[in-house]
Amino acid sequence: MSSQKKSEVSQKLMVNATGTAPAPASEKIPLIARPFVSDRAKKTLDIVEKFVEEECIPADSIFNQQLGEGTAKRFTGHPPIMEDLKDRAKELGLWNMFLPKNHFKEGAGFSNLEYGLMAEYLGKSRTASEATNCAAPDTGNMEVIAKYGTPEQKKQWLQPLLDGKMRSAFLMTEPDVASSDATNITLNIRKEGNEYVLNGSKWWSSGAGDERCKIYIVMGKSDPQNSNVYRQQSVILVPADTPGITIHRMLGVFGYDDAPHGHGHISFDNVRVPASNMVLGEGRGFEVIQGRLGPGRIHHAMRSIGAAERALEFFVARLNDPRKKPFGKQLHEHGIMLERVARSRIEIDSARLLVLNAAITIDSKDAKFALKEIAEAKVLIPTMALTVIDRAIQAFGGAGVSQDTPLANMWAQGRTMRIVDGPDEVHLLQLGKNENKRGKFLLDRIEWQKQKGDEMAKKYGITRRDPLQLDRVSGTKSKL
Ligand SMILES: Cc1cc2nc3c(=O)[nH]c(=O)nc-3n(C[C@H](O)[C@H](O)[C@H](O)COP(=O)(O)OP(=O)(O)OC[C@H]3O[C@@H](n4cnc5c(N)ncnc54)[C@H](O)[C@@H]3O)c2cc1C
Repeated sequence: MSSQKKSEVSQKLMVNATGTAPAPASEKIPLIARPFVSDRAKKTLDIVEKFVEEECIPADSIFNQQLGEGTAKRFTGHPPIMEDLKDRAKELGLWNMFLPKNHFKEGAGFSNLEYGLMAEYLGKSRTASEATNCAAPDTGNMEVIAKYGTPEQKKQWLQPLLDGKMRSAFLMTEPDVASSDATNITLNIRKEGNEYVLNGSKWWSSGAGDERCKIYIVMGKSDPQNSNVYRQQSVILVPADTPGITIHRMLGVFGYDDAPHGHGHISFDNVRVPASNMVLGEGRGFEVIQGRLGPGRIHHAMRSIGAAERALEFFVARLNDPRKKPFGKQLHEHGIMLERVARSRIEIDSARLLVLNAAITIDSKDAKFALKEIAEAKVLIPTMALTVIDRAIQAFGGAGVSQDTPLANMWAQGRTMRIVDGPDEVHLLQLGKNENKRGKFLLDRIEWQKQKGDEMAKKYGITRRDPLQLDRVSGTKSKL
């Protein structure tokens, strides 16, 4: 295709069937959130959208192909297209947008809400988050070091992470215990002179497969006898090349290897690190992991909304594919499909409001203040996204579960979100417990309202009776 023809095609792709350009991202911000979004963030959001749609999404399949084949190769490869995307993102000013301005001077100066809006677009592409240095688990890990790290730790680890020169992993989950309850974590951290010695094993260490992953943030038990079970754990920084560490294998996600980052199964055999690698102080591991997870859950949720939006785009495109006419009609002429589209739109839009509200609540104070809103988003969004992706898969028939669309991979990724960072049940239980705290009060208030009604009835000379009172006695006429 000539370059002129190519440019005509790309121009055409940017306009709707009506001949108008689609509204840019900044104009699609829900009205309720707009007063909290600065003009600078709106401008950046539009650049993010364009970068994702025009540069990252087309690059996604190239990235995968450049990784090559075979476990050894895929976990040592650095697709050149990623470095090009990173250069381009920096050129566009899209770098480290995730570090919220009210807590960190190192980030790009946006609020959780503003970055959340951007994360939605990043979630539409496989490569966009890493290209802008906003990929998990590095984002959460950088937050930990920025929030709790000593100046030395920041210099050694935070700066290269912020520069996108290395990657990191967060090691909490263990193969032999129920890790959704972090008090069960058993990896042993023992102090010996000026060092800590680590023994134990970890799995689902996301990002550890990447050769550029140089630092592990490890949670273990440093004081197993402490009577307070929340003071037994510590979090410590462990360089990935420390002797005694073995990455045994990578874990697949529904058959996907998630290379080059992957999810490692790792053992620690007398691994020694300097005592100065402790984060925040011995026994403060719970504090560290709790501080890490609030905004991270919002990032995941907004990326999942982006994935759901992309699934809906594929869904609608398929409904309008003129080659596909089951039973003589295009899919959009089958009412059930339009109903599914409508339901998807409603569910995505309502879920987005929930997450944006959580982000605004965090911005108004801090993540602790927004625990309820964060938990609601953590539970609702993955389920919503999976439902929308599933509907899109269904519309594609066999192609939907194949490699011919990104839908199957999106579903696999989305399904993990109901487990990662604590399974649904843990958050539901907490939300349910908190909601139930009102039980006694509500019981009393309902009784009080009944009594007050009785008093009012007396005042108005009304005899209280059931609205469906019948009093029909067989063989007699009703009294009413
Ligand atoms: C793709 C992926 C990436 C991950 N990345 C990381 C990472 O980077 N670092 C890391 O440390 N971990 C990571 N994890 C691990 C993840 O956080 C844990 O799998 C999760 O916390 C659950 O722990 P577990 O697997 O030990 O399951 P368990 O704790 O054994 O729980 C199993 C099941 O028990 C049920 N359950 C648990 N608690 C309750 C309850 N209170 N009430 C009722 N039912 C309950 C739930 O159905 C739960 O799924 C990742 C996992 C996946 C799948």
